[in-house]
Amino acid sequence: MRRTVVAALCVMLVLPPSACAAGPPASAHSPTAAKPSAGPTPAATSAPASPPTSAPASARSASASAPGRHPTSRVSPHTGLTPDPRNRFYTDDKSWYASPWYSGRHRIMVEYGCTPAPYYDPDPRCPDRHGFHHGVDIAMPCGTPILSGVRGRIIRPKSPGAPGPAYGSTAFRIRTPAGRDVLVGHARRVFVRPGDVVRRGELIALAGSRGAPDGCHLHLEVRRRGGGVAEAVNPMRLAALRT
Ligand SMILES: [Zn+2]
Repeated sequence: MRRTVVAALCVMLVLPPSACAAGPPASAHSPTAAKPSAGPTPAATSAPASPPTSAPASARSASASAPGRHPTSRVSPHTGLTPDPRNRFYTDDKSWYASPWYSGRHRIMVEYGCTPAPYYDPDPRCPDRHGFHHGVDIAMPCGTPILSGVRGRIIRPKSPGAPGPAYGSTAFRIRTPAGRDVLVGHARRVFVRPGDVVRRGELIALAGSRGAPDGCHLHLEVRRRGGGVAEAVNPMRLAALRT
């Protein structure tokens, strides 16, 4: 099944060349890897450096009182998928970022740290009764391929630091050799299981909105090994976003 999904995504050119070239996602449960049915093409290897579209004048940056809506509803040239109109942006950052963690270029929706987004309880660290967001939210069309940006092992959902329901029922964690737990939240579909070893660039999930009030996105959170939400650290270095 996974091979079929990856092959289809490669044919659709929604996966980066590295994912297609690497073949189907490997795991402890799928030791035999089949050749991909389609390799990278020039179209897939030449991602434009500019954002997929310029925001219309009516699009406004987010603020506490007037969260920004998605700047466009047209199909993304990077993924062939339609942006989720439920997305709300609580940041002034309008850059479109690529990352080892997903296909295409997407915008930050909620940054790590104090945020005006209304989904979080007031935090004593934050002014104006703002809450604290323990990861970074990247808005993306539902179904966008999520790739592993690290090498690591999928750990058991109920092991110490188990994510709560706010991350969605499909939330999972990747434990890196350096002793970090990387939490991926809200996925629509997950292609890995506890015990699987994942490589960088491997397809691990499809973006979704499970447990999320503001549409499909990737919630990426980094914690100390076995740590809970209170031990989350700034994920931006690991997210490796680039314009
Ligand atoms: Zn989040």
